[in-house]
Amino acid sequence: MNIAIIGAGLSGTNIYNLLKENGNNVQIFEKARGSGGRCSTRYLNDKLIDHGTPFFEAYDENFINFCDKKVEKNILVKKENRYYPLKGMNKLCSSMLDKDDFNKNTKIVSCKKIDDRWHLYDENGISYYPFDKLIITIPTPQILDLDIELPFNIKKKLDSIKYGSIATLLLYAYTSKNILNPKILNSSYFKKIVNNSLKYNYENFSSYVIHLDSTICSEQNFSNTDEVKEFMLNKIYDVSGIKLEDNFHVMSHFWKYANVVNSIDEDYLYDEELSLGICGDFFKGNNLEGSYLSSKSLYNKEFNLVFDNL
Ligand SMILES: Cc1cc2nc3c(=O)[nH]c(=O)nc-3n(C[C@H](O)[C@H](O)[C@H](O)COP(=O)(O)OP(=O)(O)OC[C@H]3O[C@@H](n4cnc5c(N)ncnc54)[C@H](O)[C@@H]3O)c2cc1C
Repeated sequence: MNIAIIGAGLSGTNIYNLLKENGNNVQIFEKARGSGGRCSTRYLNDKLIDHGTPFFEAYDENFINFCDKKVEKNILVKKENRYYPLKGMNKLCSSMLDKDDFNKNTKIVSCKKIDDRWHLYDENGISYYPFDKLIITIPTPQILDLDIELPFNIKKKLDSIKYGSIATLLLYAYTSKNILNPKILNSSYFKKIVNNSLKYNYENFSSYVIHLDSTICSEQNFSNTDEVKEFMLNKIYDVSGIKLEDNFHVMSHFWKYANVVNSIDEDYLYDEELSLGICGDFFKGNNLEGSYLSSKSLYNKEFNLVFDNL
């Protein structure tokens, strides 16, 4: 079967991997220059900074098994009940992809069903077809932005999902520097401060990722990453009197659709007539475990036909 997947985060790469193992022809389309989605990693020569998910927890037995296999393959390390990346969080996704099936830098804008086959079109008007089935794994506002005819009930469910945003400040220096000043750590402006260099045991390289509190983030209505940078550096100066920009290289990122505020109480959506599946962390999830479980469930219940027929 020929199957197209839109989105190469954990939901997309996990279902890609399952479908490939079952002998399908699969193409995966990703608008960014690499896979990972919200598990993305920035490369500074040989140094890595995870500016999306820094580490995560697993509770479901199936997800724990999946992660433990990634530990065996030196992609993750487990400390207590947390999993940390060994070579960048994006490896969790890229390790499951065959580059011949991976269409990076390809933003899909339109999906049309013609003669019972899916035809996909990117933003440059290039078409990709024919596919027997289509799987969409991108945040719901981005699904609703696609030029695709969706049944009313699916549209209504997708429309009900709301997302929160996260703004992050990324700091790095090629020396050992510490920003863990109590005034910054205890400030209600910042939700999380991750010592990224400690995670990778870097020597003579320090890097931190600071997450702005989500309520403050939505109030600010940032329109670009420069605004995020200026706001966060000013707030750090206000609470601590420290000008971090004097000691660190500074970058920023704005995750518009960072976390799901409310989720759909189903495992995935599937329309038999359209041969269309939708999965992601907006089904019972709001985290990596939710992405994994939704994509696995969609595969098991709608695509694992060989197994079901045995
Ligand atoms: C800052 C931050 C911290 C987080 N911390 C944690 C944590 O501690 N623990 C935890 O469990 N979870 C955490 N999460 C949440 C977790 O990262 C997500 O739940 C999970 O990664 C979602 O995976 P996904 O594959 O469903 O979606 P995504 O990772 O969003 O993947 C969707 C992909 O689709 C691509 N795409 C979108 N539109 C198109 C298009 N039109 N054409 C082609 N490609 C497209 C996107 O570029 C993206 O790569 C965090 C998220 C953020 C942002």
